[in-house]
Amino acid sequence: MPLLRIPYTDPLPPPKIIPPSATAFAGAVSALTNFLLAPPPPGLKHSQPAYHSHHHASPLQSRNPSAKQHGNTLLLTGAGISVPSGLADYRGTNGTYTLNKTYKPIYFHEFCQNHEARKRYWARSFLGWPSLERARANRAHEAVGRLGELGLVKRVITQNVDSFHPLTHPHLPTTELHGALRTLICLTCSTTYPRSTFQSDLARLNPSWSAFLTQLLESGALETEDPHERRRMGLKTNPDGDVDVPGVEYGTFRYPGCPVCSGGMKDHTHAVAGTSGKGKEVRVDGDGAWLPPSHSSTAHRGVLKPGVVMFGESIPTSTKHEAERAVDAADSILVIGSSLATYSAWRLVKRAKEKGSRLAILNIGGVRGEDVFFADAEMTGDIRVSWNVEEILPEIVKEVERGLVRR
Ligand SMILES: [Zn+2]
Repeated sequence: MPLLRIPYTDPLPPPKIIPPSATAFAGAVSALTNFLLAPPPPGLKHSQPAYHSHHHASPLQSRNPSAKQHGNTLLLTGAGISVPSGLADYRGTNGTYTLNKTYKPIYFHEFCQNHEARKRYWARSFLGWPSLERARANRAHEAVGRLGELGLVKRVITQNVDSFHPLTHPHLPTTELHGALRTLICLTCSTTYPRSTFQSDLARLNPSWSAFLTQLLESGALETEDPHERRRMGLKTNPDGDVDVPGVEYGTFRYPGCPVCSGGMKDHTHAVAGTSGKGKEVRVDGDGAWLPPSHSSTAHRGVLKPGVVMFGESIPTSTKHEAERAVDAADSILVIGSSLATYSAWRLVKRAKEKGSRLAILNIGGVRGEDVFFADAEMTGDIRVSWNVEEILPEIVKEVERGLVRR
């Protein structure tokens, strides 16, 4: 099982727009509209009976049965679709981290084994959470939902952990390839918890940090999306929603243990209940804050982890298979706002190409391996467009709606 690695960050060459007419806005809209409305490619290798859950005729299809002949497109989205929501992109057009070049993400093994690393992670996450909680899905997510209602898109796979897709279009299923920030999971008993109530626990356990956060919120440092302005206020925000504050002491930060594993939030030390515990201790202090094990031989039990796939962690097998089935069930794949820098996403596009699916990529800036993906574009009619997603996707929806009515 491949582990999630730090994204490939070598500079990527600028994209070659295909077809050349798609360099202009109208040409790009028209190319992607035709892509979505086209019938399945003749050479497509049809896989096992798909996986047509949630498949239902759209209102336009019932009015006009010939509209059923269009293909069935899978969307694969990345950070670029959340940029208009004020969430930072991982990479700039030159393939480098744009906001904070010294940013080093935490690795899964550090999170699991190191209390100090977790303090630092949760302190930064505590300060970064209000920005994510306040951010809203944008017109690009709404356009995706509409393409689902129109029956052209059956599933979305996203690399994003902000959950804007499932929140915006609950009826168009989404596979969150890298998990979700709005959920926590206990590494010992697998109980899940909402991140929003965890935030209140962190505030209660860390009153001075809570006061600092209030001050940051009042200063407006967390409201501006301008990285220069934020830096001027001494604040850096990283793509996974956490915040760097120079000169603060992370060692004092406290975070709660799993309430189930520690048997409640009130008493000091508890034996783990249930079959998974095997009598090992999970120690919490009087306020429910997690305490390091009393013996070094005791594992770090009752630790809560964000519901995201961390670097060095593997994508859950069920998620990986769900994504592969979605690729196999689709006739075409449209990549939106991703440079395919993470291997898990790149591999899905490779799988789609190998099966004979049509490919379109809508992304500003270069995409990993795109020269290979588009080597046969003249034959396949594959599309490569570079445009702001929030401008172009609603326009494509309008064109698609006109196109379906005309048929
Ligand atoms: Zn637990």
